[in-house]
Amino acid sequence: MEKIVDIEWSKLGFSYIKTDYRYISYWKDGKWDEGTLTQDNRLHISEASTALHYGQQCFEGLKAYRTKDGKVHLFRPDRNAARMQDSCRRIMMPEFPIERFVDACKQVVKANEAYVPPYGSGATLYLRPFLIGVGDNLGVRPAPEFIFSVFCSPVGPYFKGGMKPVNFSVSDYDRAAPYGTGAAKVGGNYAGSLMPHEAAVKGGFADCIYLDPATHKKVEEVGAANFFGITKDNKFVTPKSPSILPSITKYSLMQVAKDYLGMEVEERDVFIDALDEFAEAGACGTAAVITPIGGIKYKDKLHVFYSETEVGPVTRKLYETLCGIQVGDITAPEGWIAEV
Ligand SMILES: *Cc1c(COP(=O)(O)O)cnc(C)c1O
Repeated sequence: MEKIVDIEWSKLGFSYIKTDYRYISYWKDGKWDEGTLTQDNRLHISEASTALHYGQQCFEGLKAYRTKDGKVHLFRPDRNAARMQDSCRRIMMPEFPIERFVDACKQVVKANEAYVPPYGSGATLYLRPFLIGVGDNLGVRPAPEFIFSVFCSPVGPYFKGGMKPVNFSVSDYDRAAPYGTGAAKVGGNYAGSLMPHEAAVKGGFADCIYLDPATHKKVEEVGAANFFGITKDNKFVTPKSPSILPSITKYSLMQVAKDYLGMEVEERDVFIDALDEFAEAGACGTAAVITPIGGIKYKDKLHVFYSETEVGPVTRKLYETLCGIQVGDITAPEGWIAEV
């Protein structure tokens, strides 16, 4: 195994730690340049960049995992690459090729291998690819130039001292418009979520739940994660809506539920006044894999699922199976693991 930097992995949180190298590629005159690794963690961009004024930017998030035998795995990076292309099309930015995206992620992990936390620490190397509109421009129009970049930062285990359920409250605010940019991972969706998040935290909740913006009757997102519930007859259910961000973790869990746990899987409406149909519930995304939901507060009533203190058995099994696949302990479905 490579030399590993001296970090107390178990104490790491989710904050920026400057690593040695990042990847950067420029788009100009209709094409991407060949791209390069650089030690400079500052961007030098025009003050008139569309990314700064009109939110023309998108991002991704994925992790590198150390396996038991010291290898490094990326989990479904081609899905992040494809999703970034979808985001780019929605806000008129040039797509970065899928193979080049995956290669850039691998280059960044290799160049920073000393920062990939050891197997079993629970810590991982988080990768943050992003694509932004830059160059001199004043009017509301697509930028004349673009930057694609990937940096990484080691992050700690999401649950320190074991997985435990948390409570959420339903927000009166919307995170996206019915036919807006909710399904694109674009920065513009997130500034508006800071205030509802802060209000939820002040009320003693982990984060807020957003309902569908058209009718406010259906569950859409749990903060910046997707929702799933396990029905009393053991089905994995997750909401379907054009304003939900399509979580790669969610689609992976659907396949794990079906193929590894033999469950039925449904992607359909989840009504906020029918939470009784679920025995367990959780939020899913790259950061935590699964955050078990203890209860959801809606109109002054707290609806508790399995327990406010204990993790339900199906939620735990889903979590252990997906984590096992990510670190290479459990055989992954074809194409899910990219070895660095
Ligand atoms: C990134 C993100 C998710 C989770 O997606 P993953 O691909 O599973 O990491 C869910 N909801 C929102 C709003 C997101 O930005």
